[in-house]
Amino acid sequence: MASYFRFSKALVMLGLTFVVLTQAQSQPWSLLQAPKDLTLKLIRDPVTLSLASTDFGHIVHDNPFAIFSPSSISDISLLINFSNSLPIPFTIAPRGQAHSVNGQAMTNDGVVVNMTELNGFRNGSGIVVVSDGTPYADVGGEQIWIDVLHATLEHGLTPLSWTDYLFLSVAGTLSNAGISGQSFRFGPQISNVHQLDVVTGKGDLVTCSSENNSELFYAVLGGLGQFGIITRARIALGPAPTRVKWLRLLYNNFSAFSADQEHLISLNGRNETIAADYVEGFLLLNQPPLDLSSFPAPDQPRISSLVTQYGIIYIIELVKYYDNSTQEHIEEEVELLVEGLKFVPTFMFEKDVSYEEFLNRVHSDELFLRSQGLWDVPHPWINLFVPGSRISDFNEGVFKGIILKQNITAGIAIIYPMNRSKWNDKMSAVTPNEDVFYAVSLLHATGFDKVEEFQAQNQQILDFCEDAGIEIKQYLPQNKTRKEWMKQFGSKWKIFQERKTQFDPNRILSPGQRIFN
Ligand code: FAD
Repeated sequence: MASYFRFSKALVMLGLTFVVLTQAQSQPWSLLQAPKDLTLKLIRDPVTLSLASTDFGHIVHDNPFAIFSPSSISDISLLINFSNSLPIPFTIAPRGQAHSVNGQAMTNDGVVVNMTELNGFRNGSGIVVVSDGTPYADVGGEQIWIDVLHATLEHGLTPLSWTDYLFLSVAGTLSNAGISGQSFRFGPQISNVHQLDVVTGKGDLVTCSSENNSELFYAVLGGLGQFGIITRARIALGPAPTRVKWLRLLYNNFSAFSADQEHLISLNGRNETIAADYVEGFLLLNQPPLDLSSFPAPDQPRISSLVTQYGIIYIIELVKYYDNSTQEHIEEEVELLVEGLKFVPTFMFEKDVSYEEFLNRVHSDELFLRSQGLWDVPHPWINLFVPGSRISDFNEGVFKGIILKQNITAGIAIIYPMNRSKWNDKMSAVTPNEDVFYAVSLLHATGFDKVEEFQAQNQQILDFCEDAGIEIKQYLPQNKTRKEWMKQFGSKWKIFQERKTQFDPNRILSPGQRIFN
């Protein structure tokens, strides 16, 4: 992607004579009005524009007026100041890896900021690891997590909280929350940030933390790109393990599955010696295609029979880290960890892999899907946080009542609990109002002709929750109306709006979230 952007700089002059109507379609602005330092960095060739008009979802297509290639942080301030100086400011969408699925990093008629261009400005110093005292990494917002992992491992250190997939930008995940099987223990990624550099919607470059400029700090974390552009994040680090025991336990009974998941996350802080380092879960549905390739080949027939017999099999995915110093006791600790768990006897599978292989596990799936032409296809995903007290109702109504019955699923269904105590309520991110809540992700990939069918199913799931009084929150939300956004933020809506007025009064940032634009 970055090379396309670089190539197209040569074509920038083509765009200079274009005049376009702004978002409000009433006041024209032209590149000729832009400060000289900006014009050569505003790209308007059709190839570049079309690349920025799509994302991982392949569902929404917006047409930006130009793509901005910043070569410094002050370029970003300059662009924001230019927009604010116009009678009708244009919108600005920072774009990390564009792994959103609903146009969140897009803009119609505004300017997309290609954040990856900052790599050139950093000149190799996009990730600086400080290992003295309490270790941390200073990371450019445009950096991707796999590179953060590599840079920190060189010092025997690692971030503590992850996402399942590591080719996402640091600012992109911090704008949402950044969750995975470590969240129950360390909280989401936004709970593991000490400090941020942010260019606000007013064009000011501000360093903020829980102590200084804390209102901006809390606004930006989980703030869906609404308040400022993150240019640097200081990420907490800890000692890196070298290897992991990676277990999968199969359940034919949802109550046993969820009770065991909740038991496992409750060990955190109570029994650190045996507590797991990662807890997730997923479903095997009696629907084609049933992909059992990650299980040992000799066991696949008996797993397949189990799925046919019960319709849905629930799987706990569990990981325990270790290294040379703890190797001696790891088998014993794993035994203690699974003792008393109520999975189907003999249906426990174990792998022993390196820490990096485990964290980067989705990348091999990506390479396979790319090789089959199945990566750049529509992704009508839905991600929800479900209150722990209603997860059984959700299982009955959604997994059994909608997904299994309708039989149109061709995707991955993930489900795992988290502890709300690890989230900071001052941040913009929202969760259900219960101590334990579940992340549920229905990650569909489909053909262009089937998108509406999946979207209808997603809507049916939301309607079911509404009718059943299950007070879910959407993660990576895709609300369409002001009313839906107010409901999403609940009691935080007022402060979210106030922060918008304070930090981005002209409402120019991240319009693709469709909250204020
Ligand atoms: P983009 O799509 O580029 O941007 C997302 C939003 O952030 C946009 O509104 C954009 O304007 C804004 N933004 C981008 N850069 C900045 C910046 N510098 N400053 C301020 N705002 C900015 N999420 C999880 O939490 N856990 C997972 O396990 C997980 N797995 C995933 C697996 C895959 C295969 C994919 C495609 C996504 C996954 N996600 C997961 C979702 C992912 O975290 C979000 O979509 C995230 O926003 C992607 O980062 P990005 O760099 O692509 O962001």
